[in-house]
Amino acid sequence: MPVNRLTIPYEQSDIEILSDCTLCPRECRADRFNGGTGWCRADAGMNIASICIHQGEEPSISGPDGICNIFFSGCNLRCIYCQNHEISRPDAACRGNSICFEDAIKAITNILDRGIRAVGFVSPSHVVPQVKAIIKTLNSIGYKPITVYNTNSYDRKEIIRSLDGMIDVYLPDYKYVTPELSAEFSGALNYPEVAQAAIREMYYQKGSVLQTDNEGRAERGILIRHLVLPGYLAESKKVLSAIAEDISTGISISLMSQYYPTLNVRKHKDLGRTLHRSEYESVVNTMEKLGFRNGWIQDMDSHMNYRPDFSREHPFE
Ligand code: SF4
Repeated sequence: MPVNRLTIPYEQSDIEILSDCTLCPRECRADRFNGGTGWCRADAGMNIASICIHQGEEPSISGPDGICNIFFSGCNLRCIYCQNHEISRPDAACRGNSICFEDAIKAITNILDRGIRAVGFVSPSHVVPQVKAIIKTLNSIGYKPITVYNTNSYDRKEIIRSLDGMIDVYLPDYKYVTPELSAEFSGALNYPEVAQAAIREMYYQKGSVLQTDNEGRAERGILIRHLVLPGYLAESKKVLSAIAEDISTGISISLMSQYYPTLNVRKHKDLGRTLHRSEYESVVNTMEKLGFRNGWIQDMDSHMNYRPDFSREHPFE
């Protein structure tokens, strides 16, 4: 369905990029005002699946009271094991695109009025103009939340550069360094080089120190996430080595053990199970040996805590 250009306060440059979409490395050149015909299937509307308070992020991201997370539907990757598959797939049941811009702002400000201080944009790579419109509008009506860009890192570095000054905290995944693996698991052969360049740009903007307030809430900086996949410890160790060599061991890392097999991969030879404790500990040891000292590791039962149901109003309750 065509999207009315007047309903979201886009800048002219955003209208141009959405009309001939080169927002992400796929560069489909789709006219997103005329439906979702590009690889991500997202049109120029809000593409929001859920806006809710989320307390399950890292302690510095959720803060003591939770973060107002905006979960965008659709994605520019197609990870076979996607933990948010209910909203990320082109045919996902809970994609939801019914929320208009004004209602999205109302939902966010209602949450901020309850004392929540941060707004997280989850899976934003294919909807950066929408992210900018939300931030500018919130600022224009007096709200200055901490902004968190929670991305798979399949972002063009020029687009990350365009966010300089708007985003306070970058929360990028660094999934793989082996192109064959990123092609097989996420449908993107060039993910490693794209993610490396995007994260370097984030690092250039923020440096390695994750600045927090007196309640431990991240206010500025970068926190790199890596999800350890069962059977792929060598890849996890290569990712950590790449961060140590290309970026800095002073950067904060969130090493995640929370992987669980969704229905799509229950029968996969490696991905059909959760992670063994010995696998996770082996990667933690490598992280320590490389000299990383800042960040978070997870309990082995954390996979029990991340089972969102996006058919509910509050997917995590
Ligand atoms: S954001 Fe979507 S439509 Fe635009 S280039 Fe990327 S995959 Fe294609």
